[in-house]
Amino acid sequence: MNKIRTRFAPSPTGYLHVGGLRTALYAYLFAKKNDGDFLLKIEDTDRKRFVEGAVEKLINSLDFLGLERNEGVMLSKVLSSNTNSQESKNYPGVFEVGEYGPYIQSEKLEIYKKYADELVKNGYAYYCFCEPERLEEMRKEQTAKKQPPIYDRFCLQNVSEEEVNKNLKNNCPYTIRIKVPHDEIIEADDIIRGRVKFNTNLVTDQILLKSDGFPTYHLASVIDDHDMQTTHVIRGEEWLPSMPIHILLYRYFGWEAPKFAHLPLLLNPDKSKLSKRQGDVAVEDYIKKGYLKEAIINFVAMLGWNPGKGETQEIFTLEELVEKFDLSHVHKAGAVFDIKKLDWINSQWIKKLSIEELYQKSLEFFEEKEFYKSWNMKHEACSTEEKENYLKKILTIEQDRLQNLSEVGESNQFFFHDANFDKELLRWKDMSDEDLKKSLEKSLTVLENITDENWTRENLEKILMEKADEKPASLARFAESRRAGGRGELLWPLRATLTGEKKSPSPFECAWVLGKEETLSRLKNTIGKI
Ligand code: GLU
Repeated sequence: MNKIRTRFAPSPTGYLHVGGLRTALYAYLFAKKNDGDFLLKIEDTDRKRFVEGAVEKLINSLDFLGLERNEGVMLSKVLSSNTNSQESKNYPGVFEVGEYGPYIQSEKLEIYKKYADELVKNGYAYYCFCEPERLEEMRKEQTAKKQPPIYDRFCLQNVSEEEVNKNLKNNCPYTIRIKVPHDEIIEADDIIRGRVKFNTNLVTDQILLKSDGFPTYHLASVIDDHDMQTTHVIRGEEWLPSMPIHILLYRYFGWEAPKFAHLPLLLNPDKSKLSKRQGDVAVEDYIKKGYLKEAIINFVAMLGWNPGKGETQEIFTLEELVEKFDLSHVHKAGAVFDIKKLDWINSQWIKKLSIEELYQKSLEFFEEKEFYKSWNMKHEACSTEEKENYLKKILTIEQDRLQNLSEVGESNQFFFHDANFDKELLRWKDMSDEDLKKSLEKSLTVLENITDENWTRENLEKILMEKADEKPASLARFAESRRAGGRGELLWPLRATLTGEKKSPSPFECAWVLGKEETLSRLKNTIGKI
């Protein structure tokens, strides 16, 4: 059997679309699972959509996500298994690695033209000189009559060979169209959809070569897949209607067609087609928002695939996905892009990080925040190590609560500036000023007696809990606070002092992060104000 070869064929629009990533990932997983090759080629023949730097950005994103290619377009020429490497003519600094290139369509224009001419010569395609206005008119009429947008073959039927030659000689703009045979049912297999059938009377004579000399997707894609020996074309469902054209092209060229797998559409939770707003679909934006690459890969893998009946595993590494992935478990129905699921998967991946890793990945997110910037400035005199340790302590208590890295510090800003003083917040239930003061003084005494070495989360919790269980400041309230099942008499005022917030991590955790000196200072400060 031939070695399995899949490809990802993005158009460089400036960002990696989540749907594109899903296609790339499935093509990658399928190839790797079957010891095959995964390659990247660039479909840049739509010149109107050209975006400077987009190719490089795309490659960077795939590299960042760990979707390594065996072949095709890369940002480096070093690749142990493949020595055939060339710098791209059109994109300096981009390399094409492998023996089936060029892997960039704008570098193959002559090849496409040659094949298009060959199709004309063999009677499988024809020149079309129709002006855009005529075509537009025809389209409007068809829409009005609710007819499918099918080219009326004016040029095939009315322009003689002589006229064609004359027009060509006079440099009249032309396109080349495929000749679709009428009254035929084209049947083919799709790995995901099973047997699919197309009535050719509903298939238009698509343009293969545009008037600017560039090929359309149909022509280029088929020639590339043949040139690159693609065995499996894995792509989005939006390309399913192109299948009959592609099958015809393979037939006309006398080439064996690859196998096709059309992946399900991506949908919003309300089942509409996935929002086109770039902020919602650009993978780079999710990375910027603090989603880990492992989580993005994990989440995107589940958009249309599951590990099989009865399997409950939801968290997968890329390696595990390679092992478990199977195109037969990709479903036909649209896959819902549920951001809540992504948040959950991301939180699971964040939990797996060591504090060192979490710190390394979070620092850039801290650095964007105003509260961090002022804190950092105020602590200019502190060593980098001291600051690093402080942030690591914050991360230790935030780790289990984070859904993405851009949230770091957000809900615990009291670690970065003095806590707000709010006397009403400090009170446990309707405790009097006097009781409040007593409670805080008790905390102060207890905490003063804990040495620096013993200032650990566990000790703080143990000692403070013991104290909280003792008879509290007022006997009457003791009974009440016991009934309420809490140790609030002691712990609430302490926590509210340290944080100034209604909600926060426990007083033990906060005291631990703040350290002995700052904890005592906050307590004394508050006591002084009551
Ligand atoms: N350029 C097309 C896309 O971005 C490629 C489709 C294919 O894989 O053939 O969707």
